[in-house]
Amino acid sequence: MTSALRSYLDTQRQEILGRCTACGDCFQVCPIVSLTPLKGASPEGVVTGVLEALRGKPAPGEAVAWAEACTRCGLCIERCPEGVNPRKMLALTEGLVHEAAGAQAGSRFFRLMSRNIRLLSGLQLSHQNLAGIQGPPQDQADVVFYVGCNLLSTPHIILNVMELLSALGVDYRVAGGTGYCCGVIHFVGGELEATGKVTGHLFSKLAAFRPRTVLTWCPTCEMFLGETMAGLGQHEFELQHVTDFLVAHLDVLKERMSKPIPRRVAVHGHGGLPHISDNVRRLLGAIPELDLVELHDGGELGYSCNVGGLLRVPSLQAEVQAAVWQQARAIGADELVDLYHGCHRLLWDEGGLRVRNFTDLLVEAMGLPSHEDRFQRYRGMPGPQQVLEAARDLMRENAIDPAQVERVLPALFQR
Ligand code: SF4
Ligand code: SF4
Repeated sequence: MTSALRSYLDTQRQEILGRCTACGDCFQVCPIVSLTPLKGASPEGVVTGVLEALRGKPAPGEAVAWAEACTRCGLCIERCPEGVNPRKMLALTEGLVHEAAGAQAGSRFFRLMSRNIRLLSGLQLSHQNLAGIQGPPQDQADVVFYVGCNLLSTPHIILNVMELLSALGVDYRVAGGTGYCCGVIHFVGGELEATGKVTGHLFSKLAAFRPRTVLTWCPTCEMFLGETMAGLGQHEFELQHVTDFLVAHLDVLKERMSKPIPRRVAVHGHGGLPHISDNVRRLLGAIPELDLVELHDGGELGYSCNVGGLLRVPSLQAEVQAAVWQQARAIGADELVDLYHGCHRLLWDEGGLRVRNFTDLLVEAMGLPSHEDRFQRYRGMPGPQQVLEAARDLMRENAIDPAQVERVLPALFQR
């Protein structure tokens, strides 16, 4: 896969170099520029630097800074008069520039993330559930629910989606965990050899199920596989976001929504992947008696709250988070609802305002078995000792070291 990746990247950059006139419109419309030291830089000059990087020449600092600060909000895409996707242009630039710099940050981050996922999932899921999700493909299925890596940190969302797919009578299997990584972390870190292997490995494992459809969840996987690397690798299955699939079955879901939810919920959304936001809006909109209020908290300035999104500009992420609480309280919301697991990990129950994922509400409205959000329960505890106590059996089952939990958990639950 590594040579296929190289040839894919060459084709993509030639295409961009053949189209982009360095007019600078994308830089001018980019909302991140004014929040970074790039403010006041020449739009044409910065884009010219990006094109130099794509040609394989040394990248000027401003071009690198823009690529590294891009929160993937997508506001530049419509603006380009030449049909270039500037977001993809910057994503490719970032990987190539980091490779040229010999960076190894991707592998380091991946190791750290893997440890955190192992701990958090082991505190929340049974060994049997974990083995079912992370194990090798064993049999054929029409549909694979591909959960990516990090959703295992908030696994009740996986269980919710499984309830929804089962309610629809779908023949599906679940696949995910760090052994099914999409490769984005290695790519952003500039480790292209590793990216080729990791992404190739993912496609092979998914293909082993011989599915017709692979449902994605993670917005990062969705953007990496569906945009940055769109068209890379041959596979027989169709990639579809799980919310597209649910919306395609909305009539059936709606019929099953027998439990009204007479509550006011504040929805924390994001830009970047508008089809997902639209889908969630439609799904929640079908719940009887739900009073849905969308927040205008700045979430549209990034595709997610996570490290590839708003957290690339930490001051912006902090501002958005503050606005979320302030606005949700101002409208008298009973609950705060998020789209993504990355946001779910950065929000918490506070002052009577409960944080929920949109799948929690769908499951509730349909009267399906509910799965406790242990992430938020643990997060609300005074310290690691209480978590150790509450998760004692699961830790034993999953061979989780209590000393490691004590050491690592405070940073993961940081507010
Ligand atoms: S995707 Fe958003 S943050 Fe990235 S370059 Fe485009 S406008 Fe700027
Ligand atoms: S990507 Fe498009 S908008 Fe941006 S500089 Fe090139 S031609 Fe202009």
